[in-house]
Amino acid sequence: MQAAILAVGSELLGTDRLDTNSLRITESLHRFGVQVRRKCVVGDDVEELATEIGSAHGRYPLLIITGGIGPTSDDLTREAVALALDRELVHQEWIVDDIRAKFARFGREMPDSNRKQADVIEGAEVLANRRGTAPGQRIDHAGGTIFVLPGVPHEVEGLIEHALEPWLESAVGAEAVEVRWMKVACVPESTLEQLIAPYFEEFAADGLSILSKPGEILLQLSGPSGSAEELALRERRLVELLGDAVYGHGRDDTLERTVGELLRDAAATVVTAESCTGGLVAERLTRSPGSSDYFLGAAITYSNELKSDLLGVDPRLIEKHGAVSREVVEAMALGGRTALGGDYCIAISGVAGPGGGTAEKPLGTVDLAVAGPDRKVRYLRVQLPGDRDRIRQQASQWGLDMLRRWLSGAQDPSAAHLAPRAVEVSRVGQ
Ligand code: AMP
Ligand code: MG
Repeated sequence: MQAAILAVGSELLGTDRLDTNSLRITESLHRFGVQVRRKCVVGDDVEELATEIGSAHGRYPLLIITGGIGPTSDDLTREAVALALDRELVHQEWIVDDIRAKFARFGREMPDSNRKQADVIEGAEVLANRRGTAPGQRIDHAGGTIFVLPGVPHEVEGLIEHALEPWLESAVGAEAVEVRWMKVACVPESTLEQLIAPYFEEFAADGLSILSKPGEILLQLSGPSGSAEELALRERRLVELLGDAVYGHGRDDTLERTVGELLRDAAATVVTAESCTGGLVAERLTRSPGSSDYFLGAAITYSNELKSDLLGVDPRLIEKHGAVSREVVEAMALGGRTALGGDYCIAISGVAGPGGGTAEKPLGTVDLAVAGPDRKVRYLRVQLPGDRDRIRQQASQWGLDMLRRWLSGAQDPSAAHLAPRAVEVSRVGQ
């Protein structure tokens, strides 16, 4: 099946709002083997919208529209679809009651403007929107189908799950495409390419995509239905080549969640002592519901004084070696573990910049230490590329990965043996 996507909203034509909904919608369509042949962004203009809708609907059996079903006067998608298909808008009072009840739950009265969200394109099926006020709609017309979805990404997500995907499943059959995922942490993309070079000698390059962001790579294997066994074989080979750098097999797996699960399995707790990451590791660890099972708290010790006062780091160590040093970060990890009372403590101190770099410790130098039971400490120095944001993000990633590796029994503190150039020093201390 072929599809077109139409993103509605004048804000999407400017410079500070990107149409991300169509990417999310495309992802679902691909999973069901639906090809996206056209996508476009149109501003809040009913004539232009109707023209685009008429044309895309005439050419593709599936058209998905996102946005323009809010309560304000510039939300014109319903009107435009009605105009393009020459159908009426039928006001359905039960939808008003439904919206009113949603407002009431937050102790608010429904503004009159929301009444227009109860206008339904003649003959459309109303798609419940559990995360917002305006319901989506689905219209079958002249052999094709049009979905009208909200614009707010979080609401779109809900409707994809509850309306679009179930429809795709019945319209184009069970998932037409098989997909396997592998998540890899803290291996630079160029190193990963070298590591998996043998794979390309054994298998066709087709079907493997490598999606990289700072400190993390998603490997996606996909093939037509019936290729599950072949994909499993390919996946096993990749895991063999990448070893324990693979931390997950779910598309949405995150390092913090994997670490959380390992901690929960080990009935262990973690604390953090953070300098340049300003609590980022703690923030990430607390993203998962139920993280109180294993996360106790954090000390954000930006100043030298607090490193000493809260974590008990000897000021002479800081004076002698500097705040970014093996000696200090190990003392932070050991001191944090004692002061905050966890089984493990992740400590990070680095030069996130843009200033502060020296010849010996250039911008992007980050020292990491994890302290664990029996006063064992693992230490690592990494040289991270990029600007302040990227350095901090990657530092949090390396910190979490060090703990992941420790908890899963890896002997190396990091995948540094895989990526020697990213790392200057890596040692497991006692
Ligand atoms: P709307 O109901 O269409 O006015 O959309 C509500 C909000 O959702 C807009 O202000 C945008 O911030 C966001 N939004 C709308 N369309 C998109 C899109 N295609 N991609 C990402 N965000 C969007
Ligand atoms: Mg809008």
